[in-house]
Amino acid sequence: MVSATDIAFQSALDPDDASTFDLGSVLPEVKGLGGLLDIEYDWDRVEVPSSLKEFEKRWSTRRHPLDFSGVWRFRELLPFAPPEQIVTIGEGQTILQQNDYSGRYAGMDSGQLYLQYEGMNPSGSFKDNGMTAASTHARMVGAKFAACASTGNTSASLAIYASVSRLFKTIVFVGSGKIALGKLAQALDYDAKTIQILGDFDDALKQVRAVCQEGSIYLCNSVNPFRLEGQKAIMYRVLEGLGWEVPDWIVVPGGNLGNSSAFGKAFMELKQLGLIDRVPRLAVINAEGSNTLNRLWQQGLRWNDGRPDENLIGQFYGEMDAEDRRAYTLATAIQIGRPVNLYKCLRALEVCDGLVTEVTDQEILDAKAIIGAGGFGCEPASAASVAGVKRLRREGTIAPSDRVVCILTGHELKDPDATVAYHSSDAEKFATQSKFSNVTEFPHANAPTQVENDFGKIMQLIDAL
Ligand SMILES: *Cc1c(COP(=O)(O)O)cnc(C)c1O
Repeated sequence: MVSATDIAFQSALDPDDASTFDLGSVLPEVKGLGGLLDIEYDWDRVEVPSSLKEFEKRWSTRRHPLDFSGVWRFRELLPFAPPEQIVTIGEGQTILQQNDYSGRYAGMDSGQLYLQYEGMNPSGSFKDNGMTAASTHARMVGAKFAACASTGNTSASLAIYASVSRLFKTIVFVGSGKIALGKLAQALDYDAKTIQILGDFDDALKQVRAVCQEGSIYLCNSVNPFRLEGQKAIMYRVLEGLGWEVPDWIVVPGGNLGNSSAFGKAFMELKQLGLIDRVPRLAVINAEGSNTLNRLWQQGLRWNDGRPDENLIGQFYGEMDAEDRRAYTLATAIQIGRPVNLYKCLRALEVCDGLVTEVTDQEILDAKAIIGAGGFGCEPASAASVAGVKRLRREGTIAPSDRVVCILTGHELKDPDATVAYHSSDAEKFATQSKFSNVTEFPHANAPTQVENDFGKIMQLIDAL
């Protein structure tokens, strides 16, 4: 492979901003389009395989850590890192599985719904796909400290990479009381310095961006374009799972919109490289109480060749601030009012002829129970994908015969509270929340049954099953 430093460069996403930076620079600040940097490669200088099937060769060399990684075995498609600098902990051992139990629930024909279960990553969420790439870049620039704001999974992921690699120390910023306990436990256990801000995720992100600009701390939120490079690999594995066939739909929950942005970039590049002949459609699913993207989308906001209507966005956020509207959903991983990757997500929606919709917390938790009963534990945010398919089926947007892939973004044990409360039909637990989380019905609850410590009574109970 050609030395990576020769072949890649960063640039701003904004078409009116021609700035480019070399790979050794630490995430320079740019203006325009949300201040987002984008990674562009000069593909003419990369040795990319002539067909995706060639990546299968790496299955037989799995003892090599880079070939074992579900991200780096596709390294020619994210060729920014010199191989000896890559920080990997074996992320991306995740699989695509057909699941008729969830498929039937969503209204799909038998055999047409697939789940890409990203909960199997080392820290239990898809975030590891991105963090291996961000950690690699942090190492390339010699960072001593790395930081992120998090609804929980980003901090768990950054903390695990820092603790395994011992290359840098980690500071994580979380909103107070907004983090699922399993995720907080991970940050603490993996020895990250954890700062709880008296505010929500949007507040925490704003602070951490300022802190990283000020001090020499490397920022690992999904504004970091290298993270998104790693997350492209989720799509490579989906294609791999389908024998390199392109599905009809990719359905993903939308929070900060890093994943959807990365997926769009993956397909944009694969198409450009002639490695696929068509792109799937992308459906991004918001939670009703955290639906900035959906509202702007329904108001007509589009990528528009890199010139989306910034007035529309400005007005939206202006109103949001004036009314002090905050995002609220039980799916805490997607409880985000100001999605930082909004612009990139618009590009992804353009590339993938995509669409956006929203689902209620009730729909999310019902879908989650079905996904679980079908053998896949996931956290609430992940279930927005299947709930979204059900909705898009009902509206006739997705056909029952389409081949649909839902991304299950995080592991069930991240947020057991919500699961137990649902299965115990604990309406009170949900009632204290905002109007957007009116979870009042528990049609798929599977409550534990209490019985006396008595053999006969226990047998009676079992006989009645
Ligand atoms: C981070 C996260 C999301 C949201 O992904 P974005 O890339 O921010 O849109 C969804 N689900 C889970 C479990 C997450 O951790």
